[in-house]
Amino acid sequence: MDTIYVEDEIRDHPRVLKILARHPKSSVVSCERYSEVFNVRAQNFRLQKKRPALILAKKHGKFVLPTPPDYSIGAAKNVYFSHMLNCLYDCRYCFLQGMYQSANYVHFVNAEDYQTAIREEVALVSEGNSPTCFFSGYDCDSLALESLTGFAAEFAPFFQTLDPEKAWLELRTKSVNISPILALDPTPNIITAFSLTPDSVARKIEHGAAPIKNRINSIRSLTQQGWNVGLRLDPLISSDNFEAEYRELLEQIFAAVADVELVHSVTVGPLRFPTAMYDKIARLYPEEPMLADFSLVENRETNRVSYDEETEARQEDFVVQELLKFMPANRIFRQEDS
Ligand code: SF4
Repeated sequence: MDTIYVEDEIRDHPRVLKILARHPKSSVVSCERYSEVFNVRAQNFRLQKKRPALILAKKHGKFVLPTPPDYSIGAAKNVYFSHMLNCLYDCRYCFLQGMYQSANYVHFVNAEDYQTAIREEVALVSEGNSPTCFFSGYDCDSLALESLTGFAAEFAPFFQTLDPEKAWLELRTKSVNISPILALDPTPNIITAFSLTPDSVARKIEHGAAPIKNRINSIRSLTQQGWNVGLRLDPLISSDNFEAEYRELLEQIFAAVADVELVHSVTVGPLRFPTAMYDKIARLYPEEPMLADFSLVENRETNRVSYDEETEARQEDFVVQELLKFMPANRIFRQEDS
């Protein structure tokens, strides 16, 4: 990390001191608020993505936010919290590149304030309206920068202190950084969820993410130890051999799962972008074949760019039918608009 920006307010926070001690060669630059660096217009996301800086900041305001309506894996209520903004990896379909001006990483170090907010949210959970699922990979990959943030090492034990009937934690990732989870005894309320595409697709458009076979090996390790896992087949990406490749992917995954009961949930969702976001991403990567796919169309009513309706329905139906060979329908969730 060449440059680390640090907000003045948290310059002496123990987590900041620990991170700076681990990066003695980085240039450290003070700033008043992270937004001075992060939200500045006219930054070049694509250039910055090559050498992102780290910004250490204190989160203010709302720590726990509602997810979009169909962002669900079966809990009564769905919320998210973000210890980071942005991601180590570089997936061509990632909506973060259309959302932020900057590719720099922001890491909010005040974990204690998040935990207070999470406890308050859990206190609202009532019988008959539980659990609440806390998604941690909405604005980042939950585990990709674990060696820097220690996020899972801190929050997995924290969620183990909460009532598993009331609070689930989803760690969504394309990494294999599962050692903080494997170091604990399994509890059912922590779901490490792997985003998966066929190997040929992942190689082309999920730059920097762990190879698919390694993600599948992590699924094996976690389920062998009795941990719940999630499978996130979202987005589904077209290819010449879509059906054969997704069939093979599912066969490989379920051959690795030690006990299918530990597959907590599977989500299936189409490739989709809000139109303005698609335009921005396509401008960033005009040479990217996935974004120039002729079957991507704009729906002016919904302001969404996605594969044409027939392609989208055919892909989803195929994958769901294949999944039903391995697991029941009540643990398969279709994601449409989130
Ligand atoms: S792993 Fe997720 S958050 Fe990271 S670049 Fe890929 S889609 Fe974006």
